[in-house]
Amino acid sequence: MILKERGDWLHAILNSLPDHVFILDEQGRYIESFGGTYHSNNFNAESYTNLYLNDVLSPQKASELLGYIDDVIRSKQPKVVKYSIALQDHLLMPIEELEALENPEETWFEAIIQPVENPESNNNWVTWSVRNVTKTHLLEKRLKQLSETDELTGVLNRRAFLSRLDDALSAQSSRSQTLSCIMIDIDHFKEINDQVGHFSGDKVICDVAEICQSAIRSSDFIGRLGGEEFAVILTNTSAIKAYDVAERIRQSVQNTSCQVDDIEINTTVSIGVAEHDEENPTARQLMIRADKAMYYSKHTGRNLTTLHHKNIPDIKSQPSSNLRIQKVS
Ligand code: GH3
Ligand code: MG
Ligand code: MG
Repeated sequence: MILKERGDWLHAILNSLPDHVFILDEQGRYIESFGGTYHSNNFNAESYTNLYLNDVLSPQKASELLGYIDDVIRSKQPKVVKYSIALQDHLLMPIEELEALENPEETWFEAIIQPVENPESNNNWVTWSVRNVTKTHLLEKRLKQLSETDELTGVLNRRAFLSRLDDALSAQSSRSQTLSCIMIDIDHFKEINDQVGHFSGDKVICDVAEICQSAIRSSDFIGRLGGEEFAVILTNTSAIKAYDVAERIRQSVQNTSCQVDDIEINTTVSIGVAEHDEENPTARQLMIRADKAMYYSKHTGRNLTTLHHKNIPDIKSQPSSNLRIQKVS
């Protein structure tokens, strides 16, 4: 193949690449573009040639992308980045192209950026190979949300709650703050189920979750640990302050009737509160202390809040006839 034909042939091959490939210089100028028709046939990448990132994107977004170029040029290492472009970040894109986007409010891209030799000067270049990953991103987000959410109440499920608690414990120890745990169990819930049925019981569980959720700040979180048991973590909060929040929750449950069809159900909760303790620092130890305080509330009358302290008695319920629990040596 003679040289010109080979050049044309390579150009055609580059333009048939499924992802967009841009050549950008270190000031963020589009030197050339290739390919991309497989992933977006609406977007005319060639019209960007000789424009700067700053011409086509908002200053914040352009500066974020210029930062990636800078990293790659300095380190001489390729970099994979995922970034979103919001509707207001597009400065040049015609309205028809914006409307054709899958999720115009926020489009997600994944790019592989590589340093590349500039044959003409020492102004460094990179290749920026990019594809629109909005569909996969939204799917991943949805799956993550489903895997972390309790289906009935919409609060965190047990696994997600424990994982958030681990994160919160690590974060607070680096900031030398404390946090507190509130354990909540609905009183006589079996009777509610027996009297009004399981589905109405579900509505009571949802209402209690909603009351707890509305009593806490956005930095706090709540999880459904099982049946009709919830745990709340109050970040940067001492046990005394957590006790006040717990009491607000308890009183609010007591004063709120749950309406299901033509019946009203009034219920109460028993609550235990414990603060993180440097000497027994794990999530499990914190939850055991809050649970112990909650059981104390159960056994001293229910519809009560108990603050954990070291002298709190370890209350054990009477064994039922079929249950065998024994210590292993
Ligand atoms: P206590 O005051 O001692 O807590 O008594 P209780 O009857 O509430 O006892 P317990 O906490 O052991 O009872 C939990 C009951 O919750 C047992 C189970 O039938 C019921 N339950 C568990 N999960 C669900 C659920 O998803 N929906 C409904 N409606 N009931 C559930
Ligand atoms: Mg229970
Ligand atoms: Mg209960």
